[in-house]
Amino acid sequence: MGSDCLFCRIVAGEIPATVVRETPNTLAFRDINPKAPVHVLVIPKEHYADVATLAQGDPALAGEVLATAAAIADDEGLLGDGFRLMFNTDAYGGQAIRHVHAHLLGGAPLGPMLA
Ligand code: 5GP
Ligand code: ZN
Repeated sequence: MGSDCLFCRIVAGEIPATVVRETPNTLAFRDINPKAPVHVLVIPKEHYADVATLAQGDPALAGEVLATAAAIADDEGLLGDGFRLMFNTDAYGGQAIRHVHAHLLGGAPLGPMLA
C-alpha cells in the first residue's frame, strides 16, 4: 500500500508516532486523539485493510496483533481492572483508516459498548 496509507507511513517512519511496543511484525502507538486514559493502536506492519482481511489472509499475524495488545495491556497496568479491544471495520463499523488496527482502551470505566 505504502505512501497512500497513513499507517504504512508510520511503519516506514515517514510520520512520527509515540510507539509503545514494536515486534518484528507489529507496531503499537498512542492514538493521536485518545478516547480513554490509555488509547493505543496496534497494527500489523504489513498492510491489510481490515480485521476480516487480516484474519482470513494471515491468521497467525492476527494472533500476533492480539498478543501485542495483551502485552501492552499488561505493561499499562490494565489487567485486573479490564480494558476494551476493538476493531472498527469498514463503513458500517466506522473505520476511518483502512489499515487494520486494534484500539486498546482502558485506564477508566468505559461504560457499556452499546447504550
Ligand atoms: P478508526 O476510526 O479508523 O477505527 O480509528 C482511527 C484512529 O486513528 C482514530 O482514533 C484517530 O484518532 C487515529 N489517528 C488518526 N490519524 C492519526 C495519526 O496521524 N497518528 C495517530 N497516532 N493516530 C491517528
Ligand atoms: Zn497501510
